[in-house]
Amino acid sequence: MIDLHTHSTASDGTMSPAALVRHAKEMRLEALALTDHDTVEGLEEALDAGKHEGIEIVPGIEISAEFPESTLHILGYYVDFTNRAFLDNISILQKARNERNPTIIKKLQALGLDITLEEVVVEAETGQVGRPHFAQVLLKKGYIKTPHEAFERYLGKGAPAYTDKFRFAPVDAIAHIRQAGGIPVLGHPFTLKYKTTAELENIVADMAGWGLMGIEVYYSEHSPTQVRLYKDLAEKHNLVITGGSDFHGQNIKGISLGIGKGGLNVPYKCLEKLKARVKDVQKH
Ligand code: AMP
Ligand code: ZN
Ligand code: FE
Ligand code: FE
Repeated sequence: MIDLHTHSTASDGTMSPAALVRHAKEMRLEALALTDHDTVEGLEEALDAGKHEGIEIVPGIEISAEFPESTLHILGYYVDFTNRAFLDNISILQKARNERNPTIIKKLQALGLDITLEEVVVEAETGQVGRPHFAQVLLKKGYIKTPHEAFERYLGKGAPAYTDKFRFAPVDAIAHIRQAGGIPVLGHPFTLKYKTTAELENIVADMAGWGLMGIEVYYSEHSPTQVRLYKDLAEKHNLVITGGSDFHGQNIKGISLGIGKGGLNVPYKCLEKLKARVKDVQKH
């Protein structure tokens, strides 16, 4: 069993990259990908820990792209995380976060909540700040009972403290990953909130035309019907099939490493095909 979608303290997970790798070993995973939001800061530590623990580590990233009214995340596997142009590109996203965060604070304060940016930064420790860190501060202060409630009442799209930030267009997010030698994969397609299968199929066809190379078929929140649909789509467009839990440690309760909500089981074969694609890319 493997897990190709996880977050560490470099973004909004609660385990350090090394602790995550040790946990993967405890869970008897054969391979683990670290896919922090908009950052590659945790990858070196994860790769080192992987060597030490004898577990295969896949370097990755998760990039949010523009998509009206819903959420489009593109995973990038085996990106060269020393590539200067790539680092410059993702630094734009990190800057956008840092510009957004004070605005969220102002909105929360305007709603009468006692919260400061400093408190949220402390919550994020050394990693970059994400909305789950705001949620944790609100939780500790008793304003809400679960992180999910923080998104419903304050932080999520459509809630009063929601603040948009710059995102790349999907075509550019894909290009940036390809430019760094990586394999772009459409993350958790269900968050696209497509209304019909045909609509999803059009989106995937467009993205495949822009250089998309895979679909995250196995995911903690995907139903068996969704898994079947995404698998068919992947096969139709010659895209690799990946899967992962989206483990965030304590920041998202109920999702366990490797097994998600309990039933997730991503076969190693997915990683073999992903690696074959990396070889193809490097040959050309
Ligand atoms: P950000 O990258 O700062 O915009 O925060 C996005 C992250 O917030 C996602 O990757 C999830 O980890 C988390 N998130 C988004 N929506 C929810 C929700 N409804 N409940 C709990 N966590 C959420
Ligand atoms: Zn996250
Ligand atoms: Fe995501
Ligand atoms: Fe994720």
